[in-house]
Amino acid sequence: MPFPIRTCVVCQEEFELRPDKPGFANRCPACSEPEATGPAAANAPDVFDPKAASEVNAARRRAMRDLLYRKDS
Ligand SMILES: [Zn+2]
Repeated sequence: MPFPIRTCVVCQEEFELRPDKPGFANRCPACSEPEATGPAAANAPDVFDPKAASEVNAARRRAMRDLLYRKDS
């Protein structure tokens, strides 16, 4: 029985949303642990930088818009 796949809002990696996953439901396990010094943490932009967060949101909105337009045409 597979778990639902979510895309991490921080590093854009897909991850399994396990019921016992710690941290936020929209972040992968690596990005849910700011103290972690793993590769994912090193690659991720500053999680607590509001500017980076808004850029991620803007990118997501653009991607959604692209999908909608593609469906239209
Ligand atoms: Zn992540």
